[in-house]
Amino acid sequence: MNYEVLMCPRCGGDVKIEKDRVVCILCKREYAFVNGVLDMLEDKVSWIGFFERHPRFYDVWSNAGWFLFNGRKYSSLIKDVLEGFNKGILLDAATGTGAVLRSLMSDSGIGIDLSLPMLTYAKSKVKSLLIRGSIEKLPIKSESIDFYTCNMALHILNDKSKVFAEMSRVLKKGGIASVSVITKDNLKGSIMSRAFGLKDYSENDYINTASNEGLTLYKRKRVGPVSVIKFYKGNS
Ligand SMILES: [Zn+2]
Repeated sequence: MNYEVLMCPRCGGDVKIEKDRVVCILCKREYAFVNGVLDMLEDKVSWIGFFERHPRFYDVWSNAGWFLFNGRKYSSLIKDVLEGFNKGILLDAATGTGAVLRSLMSDSGIGIDLSLPMLTYAKSKVKSLLIRGSIEKLPIKSESIDFYTCNMALHILNDKSKVFAEMSRVLKKGGIASVSVITKDNLKGSIMSRAFGLKDYSENDYINTASNEGLTLYKRKRVGPVSVIKFYKGNS
């Protein structure tokens, strides 16, 4: 279940796994399992959107909306995001309803998200370890992850450098990060960015932010308004 990569988000200490909870060996903080989801969120976020209350609707929307907008199946985007992953531990940041984890052949993935309802829904679909936590402060040990994915979420977040810093910290040397984002680089992307009230960020802005955190670009692919960008940890 990949418990060995867990770390206390409060103090960074090692944790021990008990029957119904995880306990920090250093600061003694306890993290409970809620509906099979490990709750390691330190600062509770009061954000409850429509999709959070209706995870099933989100699932249908992301598939139908994607197809209508791009004439391409959502599953083909996920295939692009997962391309290059063959073994080791995969961390899916902002996993939502677990769409990326569902495409894996094994339960070698870990999903993390802020939303407990989304994760509870995901739990009914996958066997992977699911954690409620912040992707700006991952409860994951440094250099423990082989492949990091973040599908269609990074463009919503304000502080992208924090996310990239954490992405870089948890990846093993030579580990790979694969993100899909809406960019302002084309008309559809600009329309979507404006519709969702997103900050204008180009493909190159993402690449520069990642580079500042020690992640080097090695592949990019544009699919309609979305860019799938892959980095490896380390400098060439
Ligand atoms: Zn602790």
